[in-house]
Amino acid sequence: MSILSLTHVNKKYSQAKDFAVNDVSFEVAEGEILALVGESGSGKTTLLRLIAGLEHPDDGVISLSGQVIVEGKKSVPAHERKVGMVFQDYALFPHLTILENIKFGLDKKLPNKDEVAEETLRLVGLKEDFSKYPHQLSGGQQQRVALARAIAPNPKILLMDEPFSNLDTVLKDQVREEIRQIIKKTGITAIFVTHDTRDALSTADRIAILHKGYLQQIDIPKNLYEHPVNAYVANFFGKLNVMMATPTKDGFYTSFGFISDPEASKYHEQVRITFRPEHGEVVQREGQQLIGRIAKASYFGDHQIVKIADSEGKRVSIRTNPGRSFDGQDRAHFFLWKYCIEEAF
Ligand code: ADP
Ligand code: MG
Repeated sequence: MSILSLTHVNKKYSQAKDFAVNDVSFEVAEGEILALVGESGSGKTTLLRLIAGLEHPDDGVISLSGQVIVEGKKSVPAHERKVGMVFQDYALFPHLTILENIKFGLDKKLPNKDEVAEETLRLVGLKEDFSKYPHQLSGGQQQRVALARAIAPNPKILLMDEPFSNLDTVLKDQVREEIRQIIKKTGITAIFVTHDTRDALSTADRIAILHKGYLQQIDIPKNLYEHPVNAYVANFFGKLNVMMATPTKDGFYTSFGFISDPEASKYHEQVRITFRPEHGEVVQREGQQLIGRIAKASYFGDHQIVKIADSEGKRVSIRTNPGRSFDGQDRAHFFLWKYCIEEAF
């Protein structure tokens, strides 16, 4: 069941030339974690602010838990929407203790505010003295306080803007997994913004990708990575190789050689064969494989990328194990164990 739905939402800032959010429609299911990705300026923060009620759209309808919260001029005020928000810089109140920071967002009439606040702080894994002030905590701990403050009032949906961007790489892998577990444990629906595709692929149930305010695709991580709807989405999630190919009844002719594939008989015009670097493999022996000139091998510690060029110098990248040496080797044989075929118009 969907808990949040956006229908044809548009937002243009008064001074701006272009729309920050452009005809965006999507739904989020109850208990789902959705990652919102896109490059800087693609409209991610604006979209969260529209849902939270910190901005009002020019057009469109937003519903939360079956209630229309935005339509035309109508708008349920931010504090009545029951939306929890974690800001990129955490935005904790510096003059309040950790406990007071959490209690601030709780209903004034709630009788056991201390208990609820302490319980939430423990839920997010804080064992600190709760009378400390935010500046006495590490970045990772401050983030947990921000998360606790957002979830303590039991919101209908949790919105997080770049929650991992201020953490260093080692800490990030750990925190990312912990936050996912906390969110799943509470059963809360969450949308988090990130520009890091690794965060999105590993943490989210589904990913929505924005480009210039337009929603490009929304799908489970595997589909986004393996079946991107366009070149923009494909390249956002890493290198995608493209080869032009001519179909015959039993395979494709490419500038690197012949790929035997009965699927080819279905095509009549030139096609584009696309594949990720990890879906190719460089092999030792000669035979029915593709072949090209080794243009470059780059070492990345846990893997190596070999660039292989055809006779016109057009290159594809293939991932290999890091221990492999290509010294003194001029040509490489390779094959593709997975690829997509697209009609090229
Ligand atoms: P992201 O979070 O993906 O980086 P934003 O939602 O912050 O993107 O911004 C989307 C677009 O709207 C950008 O072009 C940005 O410059 C513009 N923008 C954001 N906030 C404002 C504002 N308060 N006034 C005018 N333009 C803004
Ligand atoms: Mg932003």
